[in-house]
Amino acid sequence: MAYDSADIAAFKNVWVFCEQRQGVMMPTTFELISEGRKLADELGVNLCGILLGENVEGIAKELGGYGADQVIVCDSPLLKNYTTDGYTKVICDMVEEYKPEIMLFGASNIGRDLAPRCAARLHTGLCADCTHLDVDLGGYIDFLKTGSSLDVENTKFESKLFDVNTNMKMTRPAFGGHLMATIVCPRFRPAMATVRPGVMKKRPFDEAKANAVELVYPEFKLEASDIETEVVDIVKAAKKMVDLIGADFIVSVGRGIAKDVDGGIKLAEELADLLGGVVGASRAVVDAGWIGADHQVGQTGKTVHPKVYVALGISGAIQHKAGMQDSECIIAINKADNAPIFEVADYGIVGDLFKVVPLLIDSIKEAKA
Ligand code: FAD
Repeated sequence: MAYDSADIAAFKNVWVFCEQRQGVMMPTTFELISEGRKLADELGVNLCGILLGENVEGIAKELGGYGADQVIVCDSPLLKNYTTDGYTKVICDMVEEYKPEIMLFGASNIGRDLAPRCAARLHTGLCADCTHLDVDLGGYIDFLKTGSSLDVENTKFESKLFDVNTNMKMTRPAFGGHLMATIVCPRFRPAMATVRPGVMKKRPFDEAKANAVELVYPEFKLEASDIETEVVDIVKAAKKMVDLIGADFIVSVGRGIAKDVDGGIKLAEELADLLGGVVGASRAVVDAGWIGADHQVGQTGKTVHPKVYVALGISGAIQHKAGMQDSECIIAINKADNAPIFEVADYGIVGDLFKVVPLLIDSIKEAKA
């Protein structure tokens, strides 16, 4: 079913797709609920989580603690494991019934698969990989009036917008990260966005609100024949992925380790271990095959905001900074005093990382002794 401007006024409330895997809520869900709360407050509407799975009632209340007013729980053995067909059908049916105005998904593997499928089926717009969300309470229309050659007042479609002039503003990097584009979806609802994990800040958990959240169990139709794929087995990756997003201390390496790659990574590991942190990397290091892609920080890697981010031999390209510049404290070590990383660093050390890092390690060891 397609929605157009004539139907827009019927859409209300902010929804968040609550991703769980094997009964465990993904951390991104709490970030999205926290962000969704902010949007819902600005719009003066409810925030609702939509949770699919089998026997997931126990984890639904947790969502209230981060700001959800309501959680729609769709419980079925057919939803135990994620399948594109099954989840798309149930979500689209729920959207058609309840008509949310905004719908957020995490830009996880599942979110990146599910959100476009739902957007296409609902004939609405999706902005992928957002790094910032906001609400426009009418500025878009002002822009149309003043900044566009459209004859807004006399256009039937646009004049409809005057009745419903709120839009979600979805911001994401564009043109290879060289500019940030803010996108609205004025003609269709729900306006959908996927949001990069780690970008939005999680609110503090509120026990009282968790207990007060309303759980809704709607009727929905889902048959085994609706699902084309069958999950036969789930095999977890043998290698443990590095948890950059949850880390308080990150020591990242860049191409500056080129003259002794193994030695450079070892130094970073030693420093990270001493700080109780993990090793990150620039894309140059990942592309060179010196370290796994799960270590990459930046626009096409992970967005991190640790307490301390140490950049070793990283120039500070815009795409790298996009993933780390919100860290609480940035320490950069680079032999070029004009490296752009120093523009965002709280502490900068101009020097050869192979000389500076061993001195740092010794001083930390001494301080700890
Ligand atoms: P370089 O730019 O080569 O910098 C190496 C630095 O090391 C230099 O500043 C040099 O002065 C210093 N150095 C050299 N030797 C030493 C030494 N002995 N001691 C101290 N310093 C030394 N990049 C990312 O990191 N993450 C991303 O997610 C990402 N996404 C991208 C997406 C797109 C669409 C594009 C186009 C690019 C992306 N990039 C990304 C790549 C980015 O543009 C840069 O090419 C990359 O970040 C450079 O990595 P680097 O700083 O390690 O290497």
